Amino acid sequence: MTNLLTNFEPTRAAGLERLKNFAPDAGQKYAIGRNYEGSAKDPGAVSALSPYLRSGVLSQSEVLRAVLDHHSPKEADHFIAEVLWRSYWQGWLALRPAVWDSYQADLKHLFNQVQTQSGLRQRWQSACLGQTGIAPFDAWAHDLVRSGYLHNHARMWFASIWVHTLELPWQLGADFFLRHLLDGCPASNTLGWKWVAGLQTIGKPYIATPENIAKFTHGRFTEVTGLAGQAAPLAAPAHPDPTPLWDTRQPDRALPTGLILHEDNLNPAHILTDAPPLAGHVTLIATADQTPWQMAPHVGAFREQAAQDMHRKLADRIGPASAPLTSAQALKAWAQDQGFAQLITADAPVGPTKAVLDAYDTLSDGPPLIRARARLDATAWPLATAGFFKFRAHIPKLLGLIT
Ligand SMILES: Cc1cc2nc3c(=O)[nH]c(=O)nc-3n(C[C@H](O)[C@H](O)[C@H](O)COP(=O)(O)OP(=O)(O)OC[C@H]3O[C@@H](n4cnc5c(N)ncnc54)[C@H](O)[C@@H]3O)c2cc1C
Repeated sequence: MTNLLTNFEPTRAAGLERLKNFAPDAGQKYAIGRNYEGSAKDPGAVSALSPYLRSGVLSQSEVLRAVLDHHSPKEADHFIAEVLWRSYWQGWLALRPAVWDSYQADLKHLFNQVQTQSGLRQRWQSACLGQTGIAPFDAWAHDLVRSGYLHNHARMWFASIWVHTLELPWQLGADFFLRHLLDGCPASNTLGWKWVAGLQTIGKPYIATPENIAKFTHGRFTEVTGLAGQAAPLAAPAHPDPTPLWDTRQPDRALPTGLILHEDNLNPAHILTDAPPLAGHVTLIATADQTPWQMAPHVGAFREQAAQDMHRKLADRIGPASAPLTSAQALKAWAQDQGFAQLITADAPVGPTKAVLDAYDTLSDGPPLIRARARLDATAWPLATAGFFKFRAHIPKLLGLIT
């Protein structure tokens, strides 16, 4: 196992153990302590469940259920809201997939600029290597690369310094995070970076201050100097109007079916409890497509090993898994070779996995692909039409779905 995975064992058992230990502390202890910086090794008051949630090894519903076994919704309201921020960001992006497409196009353009403009290249490299001379920023760059995790407040400070002090493009910072975070998620990451830059809640950037950093790092970084006191002036294009979610279909329950696990959902309980006859299983690995640079090896290692763990559990029921696949063409060849009449997978939010599933739908001759959307996503995503404040009013209804 890659050393970087020491703090995050890529198994469902490890995720469940972490959840069991954290759930009793998800009430007041979390609310009071969540803003104080923790690390991958010692998360402090936060759960560090994000790599397991990101890959669907644990579902949001089961995490919320475990917490509600210990607390009333009111006692755990801070934690519940944070978990549902994830649904909100995913829903917001699902209703506006053009925002992800435009980030991906910007990245390709910036990749060329980094190759051709030595000034930009040097500033970008010194930020990624933690060699800017701004002590906390440099430390967080190292923490991220070495552990695959950063506390939420450190992500906010880091992104703020990247955008407003170093005046680097936010897209390059978002890419640096996505390549190294074990929980790197197209929706939470892209929109988190845009929010810090003042491009999400337009005109309201997040500015890191030395006092706030000193207080919430328990004095790890005091007397930080040189931080921008105001936001870099950035153009803020209007958000696209929400568009309808893509269609999902019901499977034919009589047909031999191939099951696809993917990096957004390695444990699709909502499919497995009521599936058509499953005749084979495979993992689709697509996140390398989200960056023009190389993904850090530990990210792929976590997801591939977590996938193997899930395939081992499925083997008794379906037989051994096929070798992982990376493209729509490969999925089609696998389905045809195995003689499946249909494929089924958990619906994937906007991002590289969905791009491969969309590409599959454009191919001819492959068996139909059924995307099964989990109940929480199906209800929550369409509610992300405006800001989180409005979305938050629906939390009691969303909690009603998971009990
Ligand atoms: C610039 C920036 C980039 C980010 N990139 C990502 C990312 O790529 N992937 C990601 O999962 N989160 C991202 N976040 C959100 C948040 O920082 C992480 O979810 C959180 O730090 C994960 O640690 P935890 O599991 O200990 O969180 P906890 O505080 O224990 O929260 C529990 C779970 O709730 C969800 N959650 C918590 N806070 C948020 C939030 N603000 N937005 C969305 N979901 C949240 C996560 O799934 C998290 O695991 C980003 C935030 C910022 C400011």
